[in-house]
Amino acid sequence: MTVTTAAPVATEIGAPLPVLGRDVSVPLVTGGEVTYAALDYAASAPALQRVWDDVAAYAPYYGSVHRGAGYLSQLSTDLFEQSRETVARFLGCREDDQVVFTRSTTDSLNLLAAALPAGTQVFVFETEHHASLLPWRRRGADVTCLAAPRTPEQAVASLDVALHGAPKGPKLVCVTGASNVTGEIWPVRELAAAAHRHGARIVLDAAQLAPHHRVDIAELDVDWAAFSGHKLYAPFGSGVLAGRADWLREAEPYLAGGGATRTVSRAADGTVDVEWHTSVARHEAGSPNVIGAYAVASACRALTEAGLDRLADREQRLLGLLRDGLAGIPEVRVLSLFGDDAPRVGVLSFVVQGWNSSHFAAALSAEHGIGVRDGLFCAHPLVRVLLDAAEGEPGECGAPDAAPGETSLNAIRVSFGAGT
Ligand code: PLP
Repeated sequence: MTVTTAAPVATEIGAPLPVLGRDVSVPLVTGGEVTYAALDYAASAPALQRVWDDVAAYAPYYGSVHRGAGYLSQLSTDLFEQSRETVARFLGCREDDQVVFTRSTTDSLNLLAAALPAGTQVFVFETEHHASLLPWRRRGADVTCLAAPRTPEQAVASLDVALHGAPKGPKLVCVTGASNVTGEIWPVRELAAAAHRHGARIVLDAAQLAPHHRVDIAELDVDWAAFSGHKLYAPFGSGVLAGRADWLREAEPYLAGGGATRTVSRAADGTVDVEWHTSVARHEAGSPNVIGAYAVASACRALTEAGLDRLADREQRLLGLLRDGLAGIPEVRVLSLFGDDAPRVGVLSFVVQGWNSSHFAAALSAEHGIGVRDGLFCAHPLVRVLLDAAEGEPGECGAPDAAPGETSLNAIRVSFGAGT
């Protein structure tokens, strides 16, 4: 099998947003150099030039937030709080929603897991990324893991049935907006409606959706949404959990420490008395990642100004080119849960008949300078379901020496976005 590099198509699809690292040359094992093609946005997207410039302009002036009387502390506090407001607007937050700055989506969902009322039953599909599949169980919640649905309608029906049969008490549904494996977009609004019909709350894992589509918490009617800065073109170790204040306000602080407290004193019996903040500060103990929050806000502004719809339209055309190219290679099987025509973001995984996926990905890098990802993408149950479905004849898609009946061990993922 030969892989040919497509002719430049930038004129047909419009220019990408400027990002760092577009012109990096990498050596090829076959000799010479090639401009690196980063097609691993679903793992981490490159920083937008605009984000980098904004951060560089602010960097000489940052100081500690919420604590200092000095000018730079005041400036940083203003910028930090303005960043929160920018993110709230970007996510279409309701008036009384809170925006908590975290380290990442994983951190955001762990924070929410730590804030669940006692006895909460959590409902997830086995198709979730481990970040949205695992935090609940670790926190002792009663977790129901629903089997992978094969259509969006089946997803809603299956959640409906599960919630209908659940005992009384607090319930939370956690669902991904767009799969990090197939890129398929989930019926979030319908799932939220199903959750609310049964008195459950719902949190949206928007890690893969927010970089590609407008996520509007109020319009989708989800209770919380979480995303990561580094997938949204803001690479500074920051993430967001946004949504309802009540569970967060009543929970023990995620981290205990400075900034989360209103008063601390030594009690008469020799213990420590603490009164925690009920505001967003409750879950942001310690010195926050001011640069990270500022970078996330800058990315939100940049994407909004560029027009998320226009960017999505451009991305769909790139996706079309990729799909057409792959369709011309008979050995390729694209992985999909909801079928070929299901709407998806610029994320697509596939297996190649007769190839070990890791070798294939390594060859793309070494021989063509194309960076993709291979593996199970921190979504083991989902990838197993997809590989089983893609297998067709036993052993067909596995490594050349796969035993009959053995499935492919992993897959290859191509992902891109506004900077591609
Ligand atoms: N959720 C989804 C759908 C993801 O794709 C990822 C990362 O790939 C995460 C959550 C976790 O994001 P992070 O590693 O930034 O915490």
